[in-house]
Amino acid sequence: MRKKVIAGNWKMNNDLNQSVELIAGIKNKISSLKNNVEVIVCPPFTSLETTAALIKNTGIGLGAQNMHFEESGAFTGEISAKMLLSVGCNYVILGHSERRAIFGEPDELINLKLKKALSSGLNPIFCIGETLAERENGSTFDIVKKQVTNGLVGISSDDLKKVIIAYEPVWAIGTGKTASPAQAQEVHVYIRRLIKELYSADSAENIIIQYGGSVKPGNAAELLNQPDIDGALVGGACLEAESFAGIFTAI
Ligand code: PEP
Repeated sequence: MRKKVIAGNWKMNNDLNQSVELIAGIKNKISSLKNNVEVIVCPPFTSLETTAALIKNTGIGLGAQNMHFEESGAFTGEISAKMLLSVGCNYVILGHSERRAIFGEPDELINLKLKKALSSGLNPIFCIGETLAERENGSTFDIVKKQVTNGLVGISSDDLKKVIIAYEPVWAIGTGKTASPAQAQEVHVYIRRLIKELYSADSAENIIIQYGGSVKPGNAAELLNQPDIDGALVGGACLEAESFAGIFTAI
């Protein structure tokens, strides 16, 4: 049986003091966590090291929000996988729709990042999802297929075990418009079927597929009760301990 994985993407929010405060609040609530639920926090780079120290021995995972695919070198402003590992990260979000849309990251670049994260020992949270225009013109499944297929080029079935896929319809991110549980479940089933075609039935059965897009305490239970939704990638609602905890306690 797959566990549920709830990850909070803080985006470009919280300086160091605010991060310390938020982690304290989350730690206060975490004692109610069930065994089959995993919680991951993804603060900005500047708060990673401090957060790693604060969450030690709590069972909370630590993720970054991006990384470069090269080992090191003249890439001003970039952060490598090795640097993330050195401050205690075990996860990294890759291919978030904001990286794709605002920073122009194509599937091929995301694939390079996924491969580097995996060869370095980081577990990627690999984000995919269609825009509103793509949903409205009926190309949701084609877009999801293209993003999954191109993103996973050259990734072995062994490495796939470390990948979490986050299906995040772009029209539901930060908009308050959540996909209905049925809409989300339909795409999750499609992604699982695609993984079966690309890899095997076993890979498809075991891969964690999170849903992301305006998840909050009030809608978490019905979304996460869907058989193919294995957790959530949370943006806005993870910035308050009360609402983030409300999501993982709602399951
Ligand atoms: C996200 O950015 O990954 C996200 C899901 O944001 P929100 O929960 O705010 O829609």
